[in-house]
Parts: sequence; structure tokens; C-alpha cells
Amino acid sequence: MSQVIQVETFILTVPRTTPYLGPLGPGERVNSRGYLVRKGNGTIYPTVDRSVVVRVTTADGAVGWGETYGICAPRAVCEIINDLLAPELLDREPDDVERIWDDLYGLMRVRGCFGGFHVDAIAALDIALWDLRARAHAKPLWALLGERQRETIPGYVSGLPAATLDERVAMARTFAAQGHDAFKIHAVVSHEGIVEEIAALRDALGPIAQLMVDLHWKFDLAQAQAMAQQLQPHAVTFIEAPLKPEDVAGLIELGRTSPIPVAAGEEWHTEYEARLRLAGGTLAYIQPEMGHTGVTQFLRIAREAEHHGVRIAPHATIGGGLFMAASLHAAAVLPGLWRHEWQHSIFSRSVEMLDTTMAYRDGDYVLPEGPGLGAAPGARFWDHAEAVA
Ligand code: MG
Repeated sequence: MSQVIQVETFILTVPRTTPYLGPLGPGERVNSRGYLVRKGNGTIYPTVDRSVVVRVTTADGAVGWGETYGICAPRAVCEIINDLLAPELLDREPDDVERIWDDLYGLMRVRGCFGGFHVDAIAALDIALWDLRARAHAKPLWALLGERQRETIPGYVSGLPAATLDERVAMARTFAAQGHDAFKIHAVVSHEGIVEEIAALRDALGPIAQLMVDLHWKFDLAQAQAMAQQLQPHAVTFIEAPLKPEDVAGLIELGRTSPIPVAAGEEWHTEYEARLRLAGGTLAYIQPEMGHTGVTQFLRIAREAEHHGVRIAPHATIGGGLFMAASLHAAAVLPGLWRHEWQHSIFSRSVEMLDTTMAYRDGDYVLPEGPGLGAAPGARFWDHAEAVA
């Protein structure tokens, strides 16, 4: 197989009219660098959609594409790739991608880089190497990852980005009329109250609809337990990200005591973080994010979850669609898959920028066709991309 000879990084920036998660809430403002802090969870978000994309080229001229988070300080990720990781990737072969992930992670482990920008940067390269590897074998990515379990990937509606509860209920009704049957609310913008919002949605959508609540790491253990009790009468499928990521013991205890199943994992980067939480044996769903994990860690985390009998509901977030394509390929081979998150405010715009057959139709994702990811930047992508050396 051919060796890596070049790695390039790009920042993809796509303007949006409504900020991610919905219009600005009470007391929220955009700062001088174009970020806003959500009062509901103290987390910073950009007012644009942004990610970091990599192009990896091998000596035979083949090209692989990868992508990771770039929503905040994207130049930090580019610098880690260009200064630190790319020189170590030169002359390596895409067939060694799993060992390469371990090697690149190992470069900085004793300096405490167990996640964050460092592992995001590795994820982008990992996806590009898997893309190259699959293309070299003239196969779609999923065919290298395992046995295909399903033709399409069931999804669920994530977020109702409207200003008021009435408007969010109306938006959910519109989705339901289109055939959607599973909805997740983003508690960080439930300005009229989380329980009130779920009650209104249950009332509007009827008993069959699946309702989930993303709690955005808002609570401590006692608060989350109380919230779960209040939500229980409304038959919620899961509560997601209830506690701050550092509270591993609290998360396990909440899983043991909550009357509603608990989901977690979108912020995890590695199998090491996943194992600590899955070992408690109380989580019901995990939500690996391809943009953080890359293909290699996504699969290792998913296999660990399946070993524990935990269902997998992959996360979807702001991106240009490349790590989304990788996530669909991986989801296609998981026996333990539940549904894949569908970020309706992002997905369709991503697809428009790519050369791909990837689609979302009638509540299901359609896998991209073709070798590798089955997705690569198209003409509209380059209107929004900036090369970073
Ligand atoms: Mg979430």
C-alpha cells in the first residue's frame, strides 16, 4: 500500500441565521469573536457553523478526507495537526490506521492530552486514513468495519430551534406530520421549563412518540435525580448528559437510581473514558461522536458498549458532513445500534457542500454510495473553506 506524503488542513466556516440550539435567550449576547455563552449550561458556542477538514495524500496520488470539531479556536486543531501529528504520519500506510491512532495518541499521553483538541486532531486524520484504506480496497468504508446490519440508519429529530415553547411545539407537530416519531429537546434552551416543555410535547404528539431530553451537563446528582422523577410521568425514552463530565461516580449512581434510562458519551474521545463509565453497568445508551473519536475509537467504544449490553445512539453535531458520513458507515455495522441523531439544521446544508449520495429520508439516513466515505468536498465546499498551513 502507498505511503502518506502530504497532510493539509482547512477551516470550514458556514454562516447561519439562527444560532445553534436556537435564538439568543435572556441575558445571552455575542462577544467580539463571534461566540455566545448559553446561560443554561455555561458553555460557549460560535454563531457560525465551523469544522476542521483534512486532506491526506499518498504517494500513488490517492486522497482521503477527514474532519473534526472546529467550532471553537479551530486554528488550535490545525496547528496540532501541522506542527505535531502530520510529520509523524508521513511515510505511514493507511492499512496501519489503528496502530497509527495508538501511536499518535501516545505522543502526548504523559502530558495529559487524553481528549480535547489533541484527540480531535487525531480523529480527523484517522477518518482520512480509513477513507484512503477503503478506497485502496475499492470498498465502501462500512465493508472494512464489520458485517452490515441494516440498509438504512434510523434517525431521530434533535432540537426544536425556535424562540418560544409554542413555536417549538408547532415545529414538532410539523415534523410529526412528515412522519417523524422521535424527538429530543435541548434543555439548555428550554426557557419555559424542561418538564413543561416535555409535558407540552407529549400532549401535542400523543403517547406513541419517543421523547428524549438532552440535559447538557446542567445538574448535580441530586438535581438530576429530582428532574428524572418529574419527567417520569411523561414516558421519556432517555435523559442525556445529565451531569458534568467529570462526575463519573455520579453518572453511574444516577443510572442506578433514575426511573428514566440514562444516555451519555458525546464528549468522550477514547475507549479509556468510555470504559470508566461503562464499567458501572448502569448506562442504558451511549452516544459516541465520530468527530471526537475517529473511526478507530468509535468502533472500540461501540464494541465495549455492546459487551455491556448498552445501546448505541451516535451523536451528530456541527460539521461539514464528512465525519457524519463516517458515523453512518460505522453505525451500519453495529448490532447494538438504537438510532442515529439527526441535526436537521445542519445535515442538509452539509450534504449540499459535498459530492455524495448521503441523504435523510422519511426518518432514516441513506448511506453514501461509492468507495471510502462516499463523500468528498464539492464545489460549494470550497466557497467556505480556508487553507491553514
Ligand atoms: Mg447532546
